[in-house]
Amino acid sequence: MAADSRIEIFCPNCHWEPDGGAHWQCSCGCIWDTFETAAVCPQCRRRWRMTVCPPGPGGCDISSPHIDWYHGLDALIEELVEEALPAPVAVCCAPNES
Ligand SMILES: [Zn+2]
Ligand SMILES: [Zn+2]
Repeated sequence: MAADSRIEIFCPNCHWEPDGGAHWQCSCGCIWDTFETAAVCPQCRRRWRMTVCPPGPGGCDISSPHIDWYHGLDALIEELVEEALPAPVAVCCAPNES
């Protein structure tokens, strides 16, 4: 994964960098780290074109196209996002699982 190390991920608006936390919620209720799955919900498989910069951990609360968060190898990044790999459901933290 040497190529991946050259990709930087940060908000195109305020340059906030994702901290690896689960800051994004899908319409199905799943809360997860959208950058682990290239914006695909691990529970319902919905792909999100827009990604909000979460204000909780210090972001600006502005939505930007998911692909705009990646900086570095543009061609490779487009491929990565288009072919988002399915992630295990275990990545998803259901808020009110009972
Ligand atoms: Zn979902
Ligand atoms: Zn931001």
